Amino acid sequence: MEKQDIITVTSPLLPDIEEFKTLLEKIWDSRWITNNGTFHQELETALCEYLKVPYISLFTNGTLPLITALQAMRITGEVITTPYSFVATTHSLWWNGIKPVFVDIDPATGNMDPERIEAAITPRTTALMPVHVYGKPCDTVRIKEIADRYGLKVIYDAAHAFGVEVGGESVLNAGDMSTLSFHATKVYNTIEGGALVMHDAQTKQKIDYLKNFGFADETEVVAPGINSKMDEVRSAYGLLALKQVDSAIESRRSVAVRYREALRNVEGISFFDDMPGVKHNYSYFPIFVDKEKYGMTRDQLYFMMRDHNVMGRRYFYPLISSFSTYRGLESADPLKLPNAVKMADSVICLPMHHGLSEEDIDRTVQLIISKNG
Ligand SMILES: *Cc1c(COP(=O)(O)O)cnc(C)c1O
Repeated sequence: MEKQDIITVTSPLLPDIEEFKTLLEKIWDSRWITNNGTFHQELETALCEYLKVPYISLFTNGTLPLITALQAMRITGEVITTPYSFVATTHSLWWNGIKPVFVDIDPATGNMDPERIEAAITPRTTALMPVHVYGKPCDTVRIKEIADRYGLKVIYDAAHAFGVEVGGESVLNAGDMSTLSFHATKVYNTIEGGALVMHDAQTKQKIDYLKNFGFADETEVVAPGINSKMDEVRSAYGLLALKQVDSAIESRRSVAVRYREALRNVEGISFFDDMPGVKHNYSYFPIFVDKEKYGMTRDQLYFMMRDHNVMGRRYFYPLISSFSTYRGLESADPLKLPNAVKMADSVICLPMHHGLSEEDIDRTVQLIISKNG
């Protein structure tokens, strides 16, 4: 059989090139290419409005806001987090000399199970770092209750949660701070980029200093900062990409609807449905393979799809807690993380982006239904 075109798991949302050229000319004319320029300021304002958040600070990627948030709040000791995420979540703790403490996930959502947090708290615990996995909101109310009771800070890794709302409010307003990633693979991108969302002007000021070496003015350095500023070129790109993000999310929603219709009655394949009261962003479409019921293992299905040029991804496999850096931790014992292990061993994220055609979706679905292409 002739190989068909490759269907990738994601595809970057690219702004209109002519409009981008116009903005590039403006940047060239101004000769101001980084350091809090006009486009940087405009993008911060536009994102606050779009995301319904009070303050935002742009970063050069989605990992540095995690590291910087921990620095800004002087988090030390132990932080309770989830093993079911992208490695950057836990790496941000490691970069701050903080010991990650993994707790298991809730199989109904893939997010850190709030009911397991209290048992993991010790006198050294200072904060919680949950992740809204696949953009599905964590139980932020329950997490706040626990954090308040024990005097803990909460930093959400909201890399997947761009535009996600619960009851009309942005999920990014939960916790002490939330981080975003604008990496090329995400729902909204600035090629590389990211942001920190905070509640007050004072915190924004502090973060703005920290992302620029700690400079408060020309001669004064108020903290040991880092350089993680977003430049003018990517800020301009971001302004244009923002104009397209609603229609991209709408396209993604149609893809999710079509996948769900086609896969609803396939024995051994499960997936998440929308949550009531939640505005989703359809950033990923994970399916879970029950090898007994489906009659094939996750990896058999995954590699069969690849053989037919349908490129799913095993997000998140392996678990962060199983990487060499972390597997020696007591909390990394897979026996203590049965739900996370099970999800990591059964997941495939299907192709999900704004540019998928109906034929692409049908080809993907047919492979899963027929089991042999
Ligand atoms: C993408 C991602 C990050 C890191 O973002 P970068 O922009 O790639 O640095 C952090 N956490 C999660 C959960 C992610 O998916």
